[in-house]
Amino acid sequence: MTVTAERIADNVARIRESIADAAMRSGRRAGEVSLIAVTKYVGIEEIDALIAAGCTKMGENRPQQLWDRADQLQGRPIHWHMIGHLQRNKARRTLPYVTLLHAGDSLRLLEAVDRLSQEAGRVTDVLVEVNVSGDATKHGFAHDEVEPLLPKLAELSGLRIRGLMAMASWGGSLDEARQDFIRLRELRDKLATACPPEISLDELSMGMSGDFEVAIEEGATLVRIGSAFYA
Ligand SMILES: *Cc1c(COP(=O)(O)O)cnc(C)c1O
Repeated sequence: MTVTAERIADNVARIRESIADAAMRSGRRAGEVSLIAVTKYVGIEEIDALIAAGCTKMGENRPQQLWDRADQLQGRPIHWHMIGHLQRNKARRTLPYVTLLHAGDSLRLLEAVDRLSQEAGRVTDVLVEVNVSGDATKHGFAHDEVEPLLPKLAELSGLRIRGLMAMASWGGSLDEARQDFIRLRELRDKLATACPPEISLDELSMGMSGDFEVAIEEGATLVRIGSAFYA
């Protein structure tokens, strides 16, 4: 895919305005919502155009591609976010590149990330992925699994849990997406009342190109936007 830098700059400006408007509708300031620019569809030129347009948080969903890009773009002002499923055998190589791991989707993965982080003398920021839509093809913990998981996660000193992440149902309407986002926010609000002190649930990573405005209205603090920048 090739998209001109000018087009990308226009799209970034327009999407930032939409983010600010949606934040206002949820009683927040634009700065309280972080934009993660998803780069999985495009090449280095488009990523440089995103940087020129002021984006610094970039998301990739495949470990191999994240490694390659992070290496190629070393020295650029980029914080990489791993937004897709991470296989445990790729965790060791991935973690050093990553600012935030969005898809903490199984206890085995989280335990592996904890162990590798401790070995490396690091603490890794992680979100717990929740399968709010109940879609069998989706990764993530079932809604009811999260509460009993928290005391266990609090013991993993190589991790710092920062919040929850979810994807809306595939092919659903905006209204259905809103229901999924509300479920994630309500789960967070409920868990936050009895959360171990080691764990923070401040962040909600939800919303993509087609539904980020709705996600922000329902409390998203991180939106992961890709295709809308390249249209
Ligand atoms: C690709 C991807 C996105 C971005 O999707 P767009 O619809 O292109 O904005 C967001 N989150 C995850 C996990 C993705 O894999």
